[in-house]
Amino acid sequence: MIPVNEPRIAKNALKYVSDCIKTGWISSSGSYLKEFEEKFAARFGVKHAITTTNGTASLHLAIAALNIGKGMEVILPAHTMMSSATAIVYTGAIPVLVDVERDSWNMDVTQIEKKITKKTKAIMPVHIYGLPVDMDPVIKLAKQYNLAIVEDAAESTGATYKNRLTGTLGDFGCFSFYANKIITTGEGGIVLTNDDELAAHARLLKDMAHSPKQRFLHEEIGFNYRMTNMQAALGLAQLEELDKYLKIKLWMAGMYNKLLSGLEGITLPVEKPCAKNVYWMYGILIEDSFGISREQFMVELLDRGVDSRTFFVPMNKQPALLKMGLFKRERYPIADEIGEKGLYIPSGLAITKAQIEKVCEAIIVVHKKFHGKNK
Ligand SMILES: *Cc1c(COP(=O)(O)O)cnc(C)c1O
Repeated sequence: MIPVNEPRIAKNALKYVSDCIKTGWISSSGSYLKEFEEKFAARFGVKHAITTTNGTASLHLAIAALNIGKGMEVILPAHTMMSSATAIVYTGAIPVLVDVERDSWNMDVTQIEKKITKKTKAIMPVHIYGLPVDMDPVIKLAKQYNLAIVEDAAESTGATYKNRLTGTLGDFGCFSFYANKIITTGEGGIVLTNDDELAAHARLLKDMAHSPKQRFLHEEIGFNYRMTNMQAALGLAQLEELDKYLKIKLWMAGMYNKLLSGLEGITLPVEKPCAKNVYWMYGILIEDSFGISREQFMVELLDRGVDSRTFFVPMNKQPALLKMGLFKRERYPIADEIGEKGLYIPSGLAITKAQIEKVCEAIIVVHKKFHGKNK
């Protein structure tokens, strides 16, 4: 079976992590945390990098640090992972959706302005599957309406928009280091910001909001979102190999693009002149003209030893959010459509040339078997 994702563990990981264990620095202070944050900030050219326990926590921390809370609104795409919306809901704020583009699967930025109300406090662009959102219009709207930008860069570590790194384009950039992400610490995350005050607030909230005047006195409700030194040690080793990882992703996508091009009924991911995809996952759409549904297609792949995953279920179809009375009578046709037609094929950093070829062979055989047969 070819898995959808296998992590790649960096060369120095074992050395750094065992150093933590040997020295006893296993919890949420230690030199690896400091070094990882400093090197991450330097690599991304930002002033502050603040480690967290995971990507969801990164998003929640960013929104909380902006003092966004009850009754306020945050605009995000309908097609994203549930974490983007839950992070907003955790603070008492309300997620407001915009539909996505049919080709990029990213937030349709032309639809943001009509969703802005007096309650809107922030826009959360999500660089989906590693492709940057068209950020200039987002930045312009944020300035015009005095809104914050919280980038969900969980899937786009290293991706650039007009030669600028995603996660550095807003007030906060939020990353995940889950096992299938481009850099992993097992579980983990980081938030980036250039704003000294926001950074200080995020650091305070992340560590239970102990009053700077007196420990164990709390003027705000904080969180325990502290990463361990062991995770940071793993992260540091991973960060050292980030450029190599990004090259592997591009090579993988290049092979898929070449081997899968011209198969009618299969839509491949795009790049835009201003947005460089890092192909966190290589997603495809099984169009109606293919002849079978996405579900049948995935079963056919599985029969041939190839694992895959569906795209995210859109936010407008999440029972947990609908139960809150959200998105009633709202329509997000593109998010619905790609949520039904999209899947991603094996795209992890440990993938081999032979595996990519086998995946493509399987897809081509299934295409031959069904394409045009069910018309
Ligand atoms: C992975 C992911 C997250 C959440 O990260 P966790 O580390 O799993 O909490 C948030 N948003 C997007 C778009 C993601 O892909």
